[in-house]
Amino acid sequence: METVSEAELRQVAEEYVLKTYAPSLVLVRGRGSWVWDAGGRRYLDFGTGISVCNLGHCHPRVTRAIRQQATRLMHVSNLFLNEHQPRLAKLIADNSFGGKVFFANSGAEANEGLIKLARRWGAEKGKYHIITMEGSFHGRTLATLAATGQTKYRKGFQPDVVGFSHAAYNDLEAVKAAIRPETAAILVEPVQGEGGVRPAEPEFLRGLRALCDAQGLLLMFDEVQCGMGRTGHLFAYQSYGVTPDAMSMAKALGNGFPIGAFEVQRQFADVFQPGTHASTFGGTPLACAAAIAVLETFAAENVLENCRSSGALLMRRLGELRDRHATVRDVRGLGLMVGVELQDSVAPVMAAARERGLLVLNAGDTVLRLLPPLTVKPREVELAVRRLDQALTACGK
Ligand SMILES: *Cc1c(COP(=O)(O)O)cnc(C)c1O
Repeated sequence: METVSEAELRQVAEEYVLKTYAPSLVLVRGRGSWVWDAGGRRYLDFGTGISVCNLGHCHPRVTRAIRQQATRLMHVSNLFLNEHQPRLAKLIADNSFGGKVFFANSGAEANEGLIKLARRWGAEKGKYHIITMEGSFHGRTLATLAATGQTKYRKGFQPDVVGFSHAAYNDLEAVKAAIRPETAAILVEPVQGEGGVRPAEPEFLRGLRALCDAQGLLLMFDEVQCGMGRTGHLFAYQSYGVTPDAMSMAKALGNGFPIGAFEVQRQFADVFQPGTHASTFGGTPLACAAAIAVLETFAAENVLENCRSSGALLMRRLGELRDRHATVRDVRGLGLMVGVELQDSVAPVMAAARERGLLVLNAGDTVLRLLPPLTVKPREVELAVRRLDQALTACGK
């Protein structure tokens, strides 16, 4: 492989890549909970590409599946049936609420599908309006931006796609008050990710379910970030015991290979007919082979059990940090989706952690977001918390 210096690489990026990001390190390799930068330094990855590599980097089962399928058949279009797509749909259904699945490529595209489901379902009754939550994040396409309950992402992209309103999260009365005659659906993240790692109150989700049943609305969950085992169950709705009418998934479905999907309950499966919705790259043999390997790994390697026990350990250790550092205001989360709220900006702490070989994310200005692989080992959890402890101390916190 041709090697270029980091300085050169940055210069080419500067010159040719649109500046929608401000990347820090150059990462070149990953294995399990670890990634390596261009200079050979290794980091504990408690961000996992934003909850994408939930089985750790380059999981051997997933890598093998991609490798084998890449030599057999990568793409044929949905004008033909491929040998993996039905098997993956069945695996998803068997592991959730037994619905039917549409395949897409990303979280935003999966959520667009949910939005189109709600509109198509409501069309005959004149219903199109969707209630989403303040602080939510649903993607960067125009419709998912309008669904997103944070104005900062929409700035400069107005006019908004019509038909959305935002209600306060965890406030059932606010959602009730937002219902109109033309309301078709409620869309909610069981655990808000970008909005600050905020788990829904169980009574809130139960209340939404009852409300949707009583008023004839679709209850739709965005499980793009909180799904795929992140909360200790394969899907976050299972952690709450509240089943949606439809849900989206993406991020970790392919453990790094791009794939998204949404699943609908069978009673709503006929809303889509041939020609009503499509995606060229949706559910290719290659993407489906990767996702099948992911789901098989969950079953074969006790991933959820490890998520729960490592999550409990992480929460316990972070609780001790909170007692020692005045800046830590709150530690919250579910499974291995964990937020550490600080008194002020998390940016210096993230940088100090990086210097000590720990990668963490933020969620807004004041929340550190920890999303380690679900396969993380107890000693890696201990090491990460020690490094975070040192980072907080170094920042005078
Ligand atoms: C990341 C994310 C999305 C968008 O997914 P993309 O693959 O970036 O389009 C949507 N919803 C939630 C909850 C997310 O975390």
